[in-house]
Amino acid sequence: MAGEPQADCLFCKIVKGEVPATVVKETATTLAFRDINPQAPVHVLVIPKVHHPDAASLAAAEPAIAADVLREAGEVALQENGDSGFRIVFNTGAGAGQTVFHAHAHVLGGRGFNWPPG
Ligand code: IMP
Repeated sequence: MAGEPQADCLFCKIVKGEVPATVVKETATTLAFRDINPQAPVHVLVIPKVHHPDAASLAAAEPAIAADVLREAGEVALQENGDSGFRIVFNTGAGAGQTVFHAHAHVLGGRGFNWPPG
Protein backbone atom coordinates (compact mmCIF):
# COMPACT_ATOMS: atom_id res chain seq x y z
CA MET A 1 0.00 0.00 0.00
CA ALA A 2 1.25 3.51 -0.79
CA GLY A 3 3.10 5.03 2.15
CA GLU A 4 3.75 1.69 3.88
CA PRO A 5 7.36 0.67 4.63
CA GLN A 6 8.90 -1.54 1.95
CA ALA A 7 11.03 -4.46 3.17
CA ASP A 8 13.54 -4.08 0.34
CA CYS A 9 13.88 -0.27 0.52
CA LEU A 10 17.21 1.09 1.78
CA PHE A 11 15.74 4.38 3.02
CA CYS A 12 12.86 2.60 4.84
CA LYS A 13 15.60 0.60 6.61
CA ILE A 14 17.35 3.86 7.57
CA VAL A 15 14.04 5.21 8.95
CA LYS A 16 13.64 2.03 11.01
CA GLY A 17 17.26 2.20 12.25
CA GLU A 18 18.17 -1.07 10.53
CA VAL A 19 20.84 0.65 8.40
CA PRO A 20 23.02 3.31 10.06
CA ALA A 21 23.02 6.90 8.86
CA THR A 22 24.48 10.18 10.05
CA VAL A 23 21.28 12.00 10.93
CA VAL A 24 21.46 15.79 11.01
CA LYS A 25 17.76 16.57 11.63
CA GLU A 26 14.58 14.67 12.33
CA THR A 27 10.92 15.61 12.58
CA ALA A 28 7.76 13.55 13.05
CA THR A 29 7.47 13.10 9.29
CA THR A 30 11.00 13.53 7.88
CA LEU A 31 14.59 12.43 8.34
CA ALA A 32 17.69 14.27 7.10
CA PHE A 33 21.02 12.44 6.90
CA ARG A 34 24.37 12.83 5.15
CA ASP A 35 24.75 11.32 1.69
CA ILE A 36 27.19 8.41 1.77
CA ASN A 37 28.85 9.64 -1.46
CA PRO A 38 28.81 13.43 -1.14
CA GLN A 39 28.89 15.53 -4.30
CA ALA A 40 29.50 18.81 -2.47
CA PRO A 41 30.87 19.92 0.93
CA VAL A 42 27.24 19.91 2.12
CA HIS A 43 25.24 16.97 0.77
CA VAL A 44 22.28 15.94 2.89
CA LEU A 45 19.30 13.81 1.88
CA VAL A 46 15.89 14.78 3.25
CA ILE A 47 13.34 11.98 3.07
CA PRO A 48 9.76 11.45 4.16
CA LYS A 49 9.47 8.66 6.73
CA VAL A 50 6.60 7.22 4.68
CA HIS A 51 7.52 5.30 1.56
CA HIS A 52 6.69 6.74 -1.86
CA PRO A 53 8.91 5.92 -4.83
CA ASP A 54 9.69 9.49 -5.86
CA ALA A 55 8.97 13.13 -5.05
CA ALA A 56 6.17 13.48 -7.60
CA SER A 57 4.24 10.48 -6.27
CA LEU A 58 4.80 11.71 -2.69
CA ALA A 59 3.40 15.14 -3.59
CA ALA A 60 0.39 13.59 -5.33
CA ALA A 61 -0.43 11.23 -2.45
CA GLU A 62 0.61 13.23 0.62
CA PRO A 63 1.12 16.90 -0.26
CA ALA A 64 1.48 18.00 3.37
CA ILE A 65 4.42 15.64 3.84
CA ALA A 66 5.94 16.78 0.54
CA ALA A 67 5.76 20.31 1.96
CA ASP A 68 7.45 19.07 5.15
CA VAL A 69 10.34 17.69 3.03
CA LEU A 70 10.75 21.04 1.25
CA ARG A 71 10.63 23.00 4.49
CA GLU A 72 13.19 20.70 6.09
CA ALA A 73 15.44 20.97 3.01
CA GLY A 74 15.54 24.74 3.57
CA GLU A 75 16.12 24.35 7.31
CA VAL A 76 18.92 21.83 6.80
CA ALA A 77 20.56 24.12 4.25
CA LEU A 78 20.49 26.96 6.78
CA GLN A 79 21.80 24.66 9.53
CA GLU A 80 24.61 23.23 7.39
CA ASN A 81 25.43 26.05 5.02
CA GLY A 82 24.35 29.33 6.61
CA ASP A 83 22.81 31.81 4.22
CA SER A 84 24.97 30.81 1.24
CA GLY A 85 23.06 29.60 -1.81
CA PHE A 86 22.13 25.95 -2.04
CA ARG A 87 20.54 23.57 -4.48
CA ILE A 88 17.64 21.16 -3.91
CA VAL A 89 17.51 18.28 -6.39
CA PHE A 90 14.85 15.61 -6.80
CA ASN A 91 16.11 13.05 -9.30
CA THR A 92 12.88 11.46 -10.50
CA GLY A 93 13.05 8.25 -12.49
CA ALA A 94 16.01 6.13 -13.56
CA GLY A 95 16.41 8.24 -16.72
CA ALA A 96 17.13 11.28 -14.54
CA GLY A 97 19.64 9.43 -12.39
CA GLN A 98 17.40 8.25 -9.54
CA THR A 99 18.92 5.15 -7.94
CA VAL A 100 17.02 4.85 -4.65
CA PHE A 101 13.28 4.64 -5.19
CA HIS A 102 12.15 6.25 -1.93
CA ALA A 103 11.43 9.96 -2.36
CA HIS A 104 14.32 12.18 -1.32
CA ALA A 105 15.61 15.71 -1.73
CA HIS A 106 19.32 16.23 -2.22
CA VAL A 107 20.41 19.40 -0.40
CA LEU A 108 23.73 20.50 -1.89
CA GLY A 109 25.85 23.45 -0.82
CA GLY A 110 29.29 24.74 -0.01
CA ARG A 111 30.49 25.16 -3.59
CA GLY A 112 29.40 26.79 -6.85
CA PHE A 113 26.99 25.08 -9.25
CA ASN A 114 26.63 25.14 -13.01
CA TRP A 115 23.47 25.74 -15.03
CA PRO A 116 22.21 23.86 -16.93
CA PRO A 117 22.94 20.92 -14.59
CA GLY A 118 24.79 17.88 -15.92
P1 IMP B 1 19.47 9.27 -6.31
O1 IMP B 1 20.55 8.82 -7.24
O2 IMP B 1 18.89 10.62 -6.60
O3 IMP B 1 18.40 8.20 -6.14
O4 IMP B 1 20.18 9.46 -4.91
C1 IMP B 1 20.43 8.42 -4.02
C2 IMP B 1 21.51 8.89 -3.12
O5 IMP B 1 21.57 8.01 -2.01
C3 IMP B 1 22.90 8.88 -3.75
O6 IMP B 1 23.43 10.20 -3.71
C4 IMP B 1 23.70 7.93 -2.87
O7 IMP B 1 25.03 8.34 -2.66
C5 IMP B 1 22.90 7.96 -1.59
N1 IMP B 1 23.00 6.77 -0.75
C6 IMP B 1 22.97 5.47 -1.14
N2 IMP B 1 23.06 4.66 -0.07
C7 IMP B 1 23.15 5.47 1.02
C8 IMP B 1 23.28 5.22 2.43
O8 IMP B 1 23.30 4.09 2.91
N3 IMP B 1 23.36 6.31 3.23
C9 IMP B 1 23.34 7.60 2.74
N4 IMP B 1 23.21 7.86 1.43
C10 IMP B 1 23.12 6.82 0.59
